[in-house]
Amino acid sequence: MKISPVEQLFTIFNETAIVLQEELYCTYLEALAETGENLFQGSILQEELSEITVKRLKKHYQEIHLEKYTNEEIRKAYQLVILKGMKENVQPNHQMTPDSVGMLVGYLVEKFMKQSDFRLFDPAVGTGNLLTTVLNQLHKKVDSIGVDIDDLLIKLAYVNANLQEHPIQLYNQDSLEPLFIDPVDAVISDLPVGYYPNDVRASDYQLKANDGHSYAHHLFIEQSVRHTRQGGYLFFIIPNGLFESDQASQLREYFKENVIIQGLLQFPTSMFKNKNAAKSILVLQKKGENVQPPKQALLVDLPNLSNAVEMDRILTKIEKWFQENKR
Ligand code: SAM
Repeated sequence: MKISPVEQLFTIFNETAIVLQEELYCTYLEALAETGENLFQGSILQEELSEITVKRLKKHYQEIHLEKYTNEEIRKAYQLVILKGMKENVQPNHQMTPDSVGMLVGYLVEKFMKQSDFRLFDPAVGTGNLLTTVLNQLHKKVDSIGVDIDDLLIKLAYVNANLQEHPIQLYNQDSLEPLFIDPVDAVISDLPVGYYPNDVRASDYQLKANDGHSYAHHLFIEQSVRHTRQGGYLFFIIPNGLFESDQASQLREYFKENVIIQGLLQFPTSMFKNKNAAKSILVLQKKGENVQPPKQALLVDLPNLSNAVEMDRILTKIEKWFQENKR
């Protein structure tokens, strides 16, 4: 039986990560970052390994030639091994952005961004899965930047970027602290949802809560808008209840002053474990000179993405909206 390229890569990542995990007494995900870095550098970087382990690893690595694989094959295989590692150690706010969501974000970025060359920022880059899903779909020159507070996830993102040869600038820090990046043309982000524990930092934001902790996802939106140039676009994966929470009126006020809502695309609830976990893609444009709102925002209830007929119908509707609003 013929093994697919993604399976071949998955097997190498998985087997070498297990070897490293046992020898280095670390977690599977830490070992995965180590083995990915070895593959990228073409050498075994861990000095503490026994001779026999080095031999075993070399034998595995010799079976693989990265240049023979496409970026999407590498990304998918790496995503599968990360998912395996994440199952061992579940952290709800660390979940990778699934392909179906990433594909649609990529499609929207390609449609909205007219320029052939632009700067793209993900302030919650995690493993880099969403960012590289989008980059792999764009036929443009993109300078990208990713930030994440979690040091293991950013390491996985760094290895992911290297293996796919995407020159992404990555920073390991709290994105709600001051960011030292030049303004960007577009932001994509699968927002971390929940309370932000640092009230002192939150006080620097218009969207801070009047009482108690602020919502991290609100502050993330404000921080992203701050770092976007006038007329730039922002694509957020948001919880469906964003406009219904106790702090929603503040958010609406902020939107009115600073951004134009270009679109809201809601995924079917059947895609999520429960109704409360359901998500949408919110597309915003930062206000500025000569920035005009669309005649009507793009409002879409997405069908189940495996339903090809319905998906076709919706894509035709989206294309029509672009023809009428974004020529
Ligand atoms: N798109 C990412 C991917 O494909 O792997 C997943 C994003 S995940 C839903 C949200 C991310 O936000 C997590 O990686 C988490 O570590 C990060 N995060 C949460 N709070 C943060 C903060 N204050 N600053 C920076 N990153 C943060």
